[in-house]
Amino acid sequence: MTLLKIGSKGEAVRELQRQLNKAAAVPTLGVDGNFGDKTDKAVRHIQQRLGLVVDGKAGTNTLKALKQLNTPAKPTARPEPDKSAMASTSPAAVASAAVGAKAPANFTAANILDTTRKLIEIILHCTATPEGKHFTVDDVRAWHKQRGFSDVGYHFLIYPDGRIMLGRPLGQIGSHVQGHNTGTIGIAYFGGLTSDSKTAKDTRTPEQKASTLWLVGQLKKKFPTIAKVTGHNQYANKACPCFKVPNDPVSKLAA
Ligand SMILES: [Zn+2]
Repeated sequence: MTLLKIGSKGEAVRELQRQLNKAAAVPTLGVDGNFGDKTDKAVRHIQQRLGLVVDGKAGTNTLKALKQLNTPAKPTARPEPDKSAMASTSPAAVASAAVGAKAPANFTAANILDTTRKLIEIILHCTATPEGKHFTVDDVRAWHKQRGFSDVGYHFLIYPDGRIMLGRPLGQIGSHVQGHNTGTIGIAYFGGLTSDSKTAKDTRTPEQKASTLWLVGQLKKKFPTIAKVTGHNQYANKACPCFKVPNDPVSKLAA
């Protein structure tokens, strides 16, 4: 990368001049490809604004910072849905159909990595997102990072179509239940709220139930120290995961 400075000429200078103008550097430049006094002044102006060394020479740092300045901000992650309904402990009632464990197409037991963490319990969650609306692991990761977590707080997340997605590596302590993150695995299904977000609801699809049963079974097999499966609502005064885990077939797997 050549250092652009007084006397430099050519396309690289033209590009620099275009970027300087775009960044509203003073003075405004003619895009002529000749690095003269005016370009020098504009570079110094932008270097000052960006907190760089003010030397009038456009090297890697200045060009990079200038480009960054001129790149429009990425759209922010979608806002986190209103979760106030989660504060209620009486989810909307739903009839639950009996389903059996079934591996999703995207995931095998080989996707469950080894860890030296001593795992004793699986805690189930919902993402507290409205039924029928599509959210991704990246959305949840962004919300959790906004809360100051290093990564998504759950170890596994399950899409409505039953796909199992990796969240935080199993070897890292999760961030899903206050006071119960050590020795536990956090699994969340996408959903948990009615489509209007006003009421906590067990929105699990048959595919999510089947994948959860399968995943819990596989985890229990791989880590025989896992002795129980519980729900977030057994440890906190909230609806999550919006069903009573002790009454659900999933809890029997690790009985
Ligand atoms: Zn939860």
